[in-house]
Amino acid sequence: MKTFAERSLVVLVVLALAAAGLARLGAGKPRPAGEDIVVTPEARAQTVPVPSGGDAADDPALWVHPTDPEQSLLLGTDKQGGLHVYNLDGSHRQLLADGGRPNNVDVLYGFRLEGHDVDLAVASMRGKALGAKLWRIDPKTRTLSDVTEGGIFKTFGGGEPYGCCTYRSATSGKHYFFINAKSGEVEQHLLEDAGQGKVRSKKVRTLRLKSQPEGCVADNELGHLYVGEESVGVWKFGAEPDAGAEGKLVAKVGEHGLTADVEGLTIYYARGGKGYLIVSSQGNDTFKVYTREGDNRFVLTINPKGGKIDDVSDTDGICVTSCPTSKQFPKGVLVVQDGHNARGKQNFKLYAWEDIAADRLLIDTRWSPRGK
Ligand code: CA
Ligand code: CA
Ligand code: CA
Ligand code: CA
Repeated sequence: MKTFAERSLVVLVVLALAAAGLARLGAGKPRPAGEDIVVTPEARAQTVPVPSGGDAADDPALWVHPTDPEQSLLLGTDKQGGLHVYNLDGSHRQLLADGGRPNNVDVLYGFRLEGHDVDLAVASMRGKALGAKLWRIDPKTRTLSDVTEGGIFKTFGGGEPYGCCTYRSATSGKHYFFINAKSGEVEQHLLEDAGQGKVRSKKVRTLRLKSQPEGCVADNELGHLYVGEESVGVWKFGAEPDAGAEGKLVAKVGEHGLTADVEGLTIYYARGGKGYLIVSSQGNDTFKVYTREGDNRFVLTINPKGGKIDDVSDTDGICVTSCPTSKQFPKGVLVVQDGHNARGKQNFKLYAWEDIAADRLLIDTRWSPRGK
């Protein structure tokens, strides 16, 4: 039988070995790259607030003018009202489909309509008419006009949609939109010239997630579709209609600080297939940046801070362009919905890409959304 002193020594040795082991484990634990990199830009501009109170502003989209960057436009949804068109200084230009309750909006370039390449905007609609609507963007007048055949594209058998995004196939040249529902269903619709200046849509595929999605974005060059499953993470699918139904979870809630809800998704395009996938991590008011290429490696966190313009929080939709737009944004711009606008109703805030990129991220102002 061991004495008390002997037993104590054994316990001490065991404890010391365990502590050494833990210390070794801690020291050897691989630190995920970029875990500690947080960039804190301040907004350089903001839009006038949306007219509706409460949770109303939701999703922005940027349209880059074909010849004069200064003439580019920002679209933003008021999900209790209509679709708003803004100048890049945040001033208001046009209100469309008031009462149509657009939820998400996205832009498509170079759709062949009546023999001309035209640019389009698509929105998921949750007003009296449920489905999707399509507008043609006129570069001369900088106004949008409705080109939806029949006034609305029915989705989910006449049911209610939620998020949406667009896709232009680099292989076939065809134009699509993806639209999702709170049930987890995701539909892919092909767009076709219907004559008389109108466009028709045709459902070509249905995908399924287990729980509620919303934010989505497609990579027009690499052929990927990314869909955010709000409490789970970001799924990656093939964007071609024959790509099959198998998705891969490329960003998980709980990893690298990605915090539910996963909301807006957007792609920063650079030449050579490079760039970034940016995700709104709504639960901690940050934006997570992943590589666009390869297996979407985590790069860094954007946590904007307040300055002359207040900070953003509870963000839904986001959008980014690498293209020069106005003089204020000569190297690209990130647009972020703000859930709590210091000056009143919700709005969208604009960050210069160079304030985010600094010397850590690519700045490529020569990539063209029209592929030319
Ligand atoms: Ca919201
Ligand atoms: Ca949502
Ligand atoms: Ca912040
Ligand atoms: Ca704010």
